[in-house]
Amino acid sequence: MNDNHYDVAVIGGGPAGYPAAIRAAQLGLSAVCIDDWKNEKGERLFGGTCLNVGCIPSKALLESSELFHRAETEFSVHGIKVGGLGLDVAAMQTRKAGIVQQLTTGIEALFKAAGVVGIKGRGKLLAGNRVEVKTDTGVETLSATHVVLATGSVPVELPMAKFDGKRIVDSTGALAFTSVPKRLGVIGAGVIGLELGSVWGRLGSEVVILEALDTFLYMADQQIAKEALRHLKKQGLDIRLGAKVTSATVQGDVVKVGYESGGAAQTLECDALVVAVGRRPYTTGAFAQDVPVQLDKRGFVEVDAHCRTSVPKVWAVGDVVRGPMLAHKGTEEGVMVAELIAGHVAEMNYKTIPSVIYTAPEIAWVGQTEAEVQKTGRPYKVGTFSFAVNGRAKGMQQAVGLVKLIADREHDDILGVHIVGPVAGELIAEAVLAMEFQASAEDLQRTIHAHPTLSEALHEAALAADKRAIHAINR
Ligand code: NAD
Repeated sequence: MNDNHYDVAVIGGGPAGYPAAIRAAQLGLSAVCIDDWKNEKGERLFGGTCLNVGCIPSKALLESSELFHRAETEFSVHGIKVGGLGLDVAAMQTRKAGIVQQLTTGIEALFKAAGVVGIKGRGKLLAGNRVEVKTDTGVETLSATHVVLATGSVPVELPMAKFDGKRIVDSTGALAFTSVPKRLGVIGAGVIGLELGSVWGRLGSEVVILEALDTFLYMADQQIAKEALRHLKKQGLDIRLGAKVTSATVQGDVVKVGYESGGAAQTLECDALVVAVGRRPYTTGAFAQDVPVQLDKRGFVEVDAHCRTSVPKVWAVGDVVRGPMLAHKGTEEGVMVAELIAGHVAEMNYKTIPSVIYTAPEIAWVGQTEAEVQKTGRPYKVGTFSFAVNGRAKGMQQAVGLVKLIADREHDDILGVHIVGPVAGELIAEAVLAMEFQASAEDLQRTIHAHPTLSEALHEAALAADKRAIHAINR
């Protein structure tokens, strides 16, 4: 073997790719991870969309904007008087950039510690498991016994609302506004639309979200979705369902958006428009034409349950393959693939992938919705518990939302847990663990939950499934 040969070459250094390389190295394999991400300053950084322009920066701005909003609307309830509350968007953006910088450079430190070779350049899979790497200084070719494609996804662009990078932007643009747009339009009431709509709404934008579907959060349990919609509307987000966008044009400083609603043509004027209508897999230039990696009709790399592609010893993980486009799903796929390459037994439990939407209140779930359970025809029971009577939530001034647990009526196994409420994204971890261990509702009922905590709401929902909640009227 020559110096330029590796056991594993990973193309893509996002949350699917970099853990694959680290896990491979932990298992004694030589691993290289190639990524060509460049930020607006021209710096090349690992971490992909999630760390650079996705999960991490959005959570930084969500936290800052939530604090501002709470200071404005809630501190007085706590008896805290603040005078001259002001906003410094530049400082907010600097804090966000600092977090991104720390975490992305942290990956390089992790690579160094694990013995992964990180290359900042563009990788392309060639025939015979060779990989061409174009860096700022030239082109080299390496070879690898196994290649993992982890090239991620990019925002979908609407033909009638093309990004101009200034007034019509994708999520990256909406994370980088240097001032608060007075009127913000958003196309798509999905995860990105709701999170970024919340950020700028809390900071003072008048936010209108246009959603083509008549159903709000169609993929979530509809009892939870309805409760979430009520709270988001109360916060001032103008969410218009059944609104199909037909045009968007920039006229001077204004974006004019045309849409159809209830059969009538409508218009919306805004100062900036965020298009958040989904993402598509990104495979452009990832492999040469003579490498027969099969794509499906929607452009995803076709893989089996173990992320093997149609080409032997070529694997694909993360947003570029089927399944939800979630960082944690990609990470587990990357880890699974590294373990399989190293000769271990590894499986991915696609049934227990949690979903979280970081609005306030947060929305989180795992497993099947009630409608999905109904479709299967199996007998089921439901327990719900409201945060309105949870002591900790009251103390936090966040006593809104509910926990809903669905379990099999005969066998008692937990089929789904759905939460809208304070830090639902953290609370869902207990439900994920319970389902991973195939726990029954009774297992959760018998688990001691500290008092006073938000997690008691999950405990009570499990009790409610058998009409034995302590702090509720059991019907
Ligand atoms: P999404 O699929 O969550 O939502 C897109 C929404 O746009 C849908 O509700 C869809 O009906 C609507 N839509 C599509 N075309 C439309 C049109 N012409 N007019 C009006 N509405 C239209 O997509 P997203 O919010 O762009 O997010 C992209 C991906 O990134 C998702 O897979 C998401 O899971 C992931 N993501 C996850 C998180 C998280 O886990 N918290 C955060 C951000 C993004």
